[in-house]
Amino acid sequence: MIYCDTRDSTRKVDFKTAVMQGMDPVTGGLYMPESIPVLPRSVLFRNISPSFRDIAFEAAKPFVAGELPDDELMAIIADSYPFTAPVAPIDPTTYVLELFHGPTCAFKDFGARFMARVMSWFNSEESQPLHILVATSGDTGSAVGSAFHGVPGIDVTILYPTGKISPLQEKQLSTFDGNVRSLSIEGTFDDCQKLVKTAFTDAALRSRLRLSSANSINISRLLPQAFYYLYGSTLVYERCRYDSKLDCPSLIVVVPSGNFGNLTSGLMARKMGAQIRGFIAATNANRTVPDWLESGVYSSRPSVSTLSNAMDVGAPSNFERLSHMYSLEEARKLIAGYWLDDQGTLDAIRSCHSRTGYIIDPHGAVAWKAWDDCRSGALSSLLSGIPLSANEPGLRCTKAIAPEWARDCADRNCVGLLLETAHPAKFGDTVQEAIGREPSMPERLEKVLSLPDRSIPMPADYAVFRDWLVSNLD
Ligand SMILES: *Cc1c(COP(=O)(O)O)cnc(C)c1O
Repeated sequence: MIYCDTRDSTRKVDFKTAVMQGMDPVTGGLYMPESIPVLPRSVLFRNISPSFRDIAFEAAKPFVAGELPDDELMAIIADSYPFTAPVAPIDPTTYVLELFHGPTCAFKDFGARFMARVMSWFNSEESQPLHILVATSGDTGSAVGSAFHGVPGIDVTILYPTGKISPLQEKQLSTFDGNVRSLSIEGTFDDCQKLVKTAFTDAALRSRLRLSSANSINISRLLPQAFYYLYGSTLVYERCRYDSKLDCPSLIVVVPSGNFGNLTSGLMARKMGAQIRGFIAATNANRTVPDWLESGVYSSRPSVSTLSNAMDVGAPSNFERLSHMYSLEEARKLIAGYWLDDQGTLDAIRSCHSRTGYIIDPHGAVAWKAWDDCRSGALSSLLSGIPLSANEPGLRCTKAIAPEWARDCADRNCVGLLLETAHPAKFGDTVQEAIGREPSMPERLEKVLSLPDRSIPMPADYAVFRDWLVSNLD
């Protein structure tokens, strides 16, 4: 497969280069596959649902063709995914795709583990070590650190904003040893991301150190996220004729979004043939993309802190991919925007629990509320001309360009698939505040609480960061 630069489509690279460089060092653009192959129906429509690994293998094959042998690809998939993505029905028309069964209890394990193994395969021919730089708003760092921990020839430096992530997330990030280190940056996530991006465009630094990224800008993290959309939508499609007696429902996938890597993967999965009618891009008060869908104007802004902190992104880096795949008009037919404030998030955790018994985390809660509003009439009232108030949380699209699937929702022929991106125990305090008790903690999370903190404090200053890299990694 050939990969093109989003900023200059004449710049083309192979899969290995896209993976190892992360972004185009000259233009600063991101890589996208030149074309997205459709999965054969013989794969998606097998009677007896295919397993997660089967789907992952078939879906990945064309993207790595000629560069990863089939056997190696399957070995990478099997080693990456000793866990899967179960679908939990929580009410007759609502399913939760649980993406937290990996080692760090967040969906980012899916992308990070595949990326680590692919990079390690490609890197095995190199004599120089490869240095991964990763900025994180919470879950990326621990997923990437855990995925690369102990991988020979590669080390990882994690940058996270001091005090802007939960204490448990900080523990998960700052307790690695060996080839994984973390820097606690006095600033916001956007500051961390800027330091990393500046390092990648610093030619002098790149001539000394082999650098690569591991943020969702890396295509090898986005690709495997498409696997669970293909898998989850196939499962739900099979199930709902029994659960809700809907034979041919419109499947609406609700994606709690920050940097928009997850939604981009969903859009890719849809192009590959996943039976998904449309998406709801659900955010917290960092509503850059919902506002873009509504107003047609994209304006990034500084991020604000919220209870769903892994989505605290004001300038989502995958917007570049999103707008590469779809024009504004096309996006508006496929994607509804939605945003929710912190009070709404607490209420949503509570209402999901009291109505379904399911304990959902603050990120998933935003998705639950977005779906619940849509199916109970938010889109219909929009279509019948009741305007949205400008600054209130809620649905973001305008009457004229409401998604094409709005009618299906009004006709009660929609089924929702909510992406539950983290285990609720990662946000125990917030869940406790909402429902009066903490979710029980999985053993793999409990273990990190007793490990010593090894993170290094640093100002958000590129010169300081650069000097540290040179003296510590060279
Ligand atoms: C990273 C993260 C998100 C946002 O995902 P993007 O791909 O950045 O949009 C949502 N929820 C959780 C729990 C996350 O860790």
